[in-house]
Amino acid sequence: MLFIKRTFLVFVFFGAINTSLFSQDLRSDTLDILHTKIHMDITDFSGQSIAGYSQLTCSPLVPNVGNLNVDLLKLTIDSVTMNGSPLSSQYNDTLLQIRLGQSFNVNDTFIVSIYYHGQPQKESWGGFRFGGGYAFNLGVGFNTDPHSFGRAWFPCYDNFVERSTYSFEIISSGGKTSYCNGELTGQLTLSGDTIMRSWEMNESIPSYLVNVAVADYQELTWNFHGILDTIPVLLAVVEADSAKLRSSFAHLDDAMIAFENAYGPYRFNKIGYCIVPMSGGMEHASNISYAKSLVNGTLTYESVMAHELAHMWWGDLVTCDKEEEMWINEGMASYSEHVFFESLYGKQAYIDAVKSNFIKCIQYLHVTEEKYWPVSGVPHQYTYSSHVYDKGAVVAHNLRGYMGDSLFFSGLEQFLADYSFQDVNSYTLRDKLGQYSGIDLTDFFDDWVFGPGYANFNIDSVTVVPTPGLNDVTVYIHQKKRGNTHFFTKVPISVSFYDQQLNAIHDYVLVSGEYSSFQFKLPIVPVLTALNTDDKLNLATTADQQVISEPGNYVFVNGKWNMEVTKVTDSMFFRVEHHWAAPDPGPTGYRMSNYRYWELKGIGQGGFAADAYVNYDGGDNTSGGIGNLDKDLLQNGPDSILLMYRKDPSLAWREYPYYKKIKLGSVPFGRMELDSVLFGQYCFANGVSYLSAKSSEKPKSELRLSPNPASDLLRIENTGQDPGNLELLIYNAEGKRLWNQHFKNPTEIDTSSFKAGMYFVVVFEGEKQAWTSQFVVSH
Ligand SMILES: [Zn+2]
Repeated sequence: MLFIKRTFLVFVFFGAINTSLFSQDLRSDTLDILHTKIHMDITDFSGQSIAGYSQLTCSPLVPNVGNLNVDLLKLTIDSVTMNGSPLSSQYNDTLLQIRLGQSFNVNDTFIVSIYYHGQPQKESWGGFRFGGGYAFNLGVGFNTDPHSFGRAWFPCYDNFVERSTYSFEIISSGGKTSYCNGELTGQLTLSGDTIMRSWEMNESIPSYLVNVAVADYQELTWNFHGILDTIPVLLAVVEADSAKLRSSFAHLDDAMIAFENAYGPYRFNKIGYCIVPMSGGMEHASNISYAKSLVNGTLTYESVMAHELAHMWWGDLVTCDKEEEMWINEGMASYSEHVFFESLYGKQAYIDAVKSNFIKCIQYLHVTEEKYWPVSGVPHQYTYSSHVYDKGAVVAHNLRGYMGDSLFFSGLEQFLADYSFQDVNSYTLRDKLGQYSGIDLTDFFDDWVFGPGYANFNIDSVTVVPTPGLNDVTVYIHQKKRGNTHFFTKVPISVSFYDQQLNAIHDYVLVSGEYSSFQFKLPIVPVLTALNTDDKLNLATTADQQVISEPGNYVFVNGKWNMEVTKVTDSMFFRVEHHWAAPDPGPTGYRMSNYRYWELKGIGQGGFAADAYVNYDGGDNTSGGIGNLDKDLLQNGPDSILLMYRKDPSLAWREYPYYKKIKLGSVPFGRMELDSVLFGQYCFANGVSYLSAKSSEKPKSELRLSPNPASDLLRIENTGQDPGNLELLIYNAEGKRLWNQHFKNPTEIDTSSFKAGMYFVVVFEGEKQAWTSQFVVSH
């Protein structure tokens, strides 16, 4: 399931934990609902009511069963019968308690018919909905407890473990047709334009995956030639959206190919989507509900199409046994979006998707979702949180990194085959994948699934003893914590060694504990050593590397580093690592960041000259690549944040000698501009800058900007005597520098090409930020 605007989710807490939750799981241990027939009239669009009956075919799992208690939400019970005879029952709007009038034993089978009608319930997202010519259900309630929400329209055990096969008889009228799970087995005209369509779902599914959708539908159909079978594709869509759907779903077959290759054959007898007015998608088995708003004729939302399809394996074929294990459904479905990209667009598209998902997780989730949660065992209100979806995808990528591609995918395929149409949890997944692969996954699950946070790894030093033949190389690794409670164990990290000519040798190490060292015999003399350059793991370091052979501006998105190369005599290799962990302690009097530091590494034959900038940001933003980076250093504003540097971890931190701090506006946001870039480690700290000590005196004159707002021309004038050595810089609201030159008093700037918006003017007098002002451009 995917709720597209899930960052705006408002969770409503529904009182105390319902004790019936526990009895629900027990009910499934007591009695098996083998089959459910839903006969339903969905013709009353004006009254928004449904009417009909459900027949439950049941078989006890224990002796002496005399009652049947099923969930059904706020509908009116007309009667309950067995073999045509009435049964006594009680109903309190949530639980229907039926006395069977006799006792049934293991292997007995009985059928109970429940006749009911009324206006079915919905919540902010899920439930049964009428509107815009559509009637349909969504089987999950974000704000309901339990989340499983089949009870909004039919009697069931509304939990994740009770599986039943289904048949449907759906009555519709006025040109509207019904679509359900499984295959269409018949259509009868009852009278006039009233018809009844029958559907059979022969694969057993839990109540939340059961679906009906009724509208003035047309069909797009074709056959997909799968690994085992030819599977019919059936897309139900109103005429106005039909052409757009064909374009937006152009890669549906590619998604099927990706997932059958990754996870094994598709196990349902139809690939189905119904387009309905909803937000996101819902993975009803073989009859996915998919938002009309995502069907826009482009491929923009094809990851949602793929996500829901991936649920046919993760969620529908195997289902998490309780809400606390939702990452097995949603984390794997979210990860499958990356797998789809990899299969369709190639490895780099996969890596890009993995990295952009990861940086979002590590920067924001502990803020937006209260703390670092383990992906297994999340509390009720975080069942459908980003920790479950996105951190779940992080964990899946890492599991692949630990196991290697072939054992990972063959293990998942075997797991899905062994547990088809069953419920599972993290322990079954751990033990079975371990058994299939021969890899002990205990540490992985303790570190990544049952424990919170991320681990950070940094190379403290590399020693090389040149030896004829092979050089003796020792790599010292320092593990740091990021939201985790313990140091991670046996993390298989790749190590890459580069010599001066950029010849590379790749190996890997199993890292445990805070400090570790590893010996290698190498035919090269490494001048640069780096971890995880293959991005096989999401560790608490985000990095980019590139070869630069021409001057220009280079953005290291994952390294959160921007570089302006002014001179490069030969090609240079740069790697920027942004470490999401506290730097090593600094000198007395400096409070170091608790959050992050950088390491800039490089190799080049000739010389280079580059400026760089890094943004500091004490803001509260929780999306968009900014915010929640330096709040720990900026509680009292930006005056005392400064840039620290050391060449390598054997040296003490000191303030970087060649930078300017640019304060932008009144928000705790700005940047450090490095005049000349050195290789080594950088971080922010809070302290007294020896640079700012030189610039504490207040400017005696002011800076005048006119007109403000400006349109085509802006005049910047210094009212005092021109001290002669002024530098003028202009930034846009995103902090991008647009202008940097000597300030001649006054200066006129052509703003005709500036986009409408706010801009910052900064004037430096030597090392001192003498004036900051802002202006608006409107055209
Ligand atoms: Zn999902």
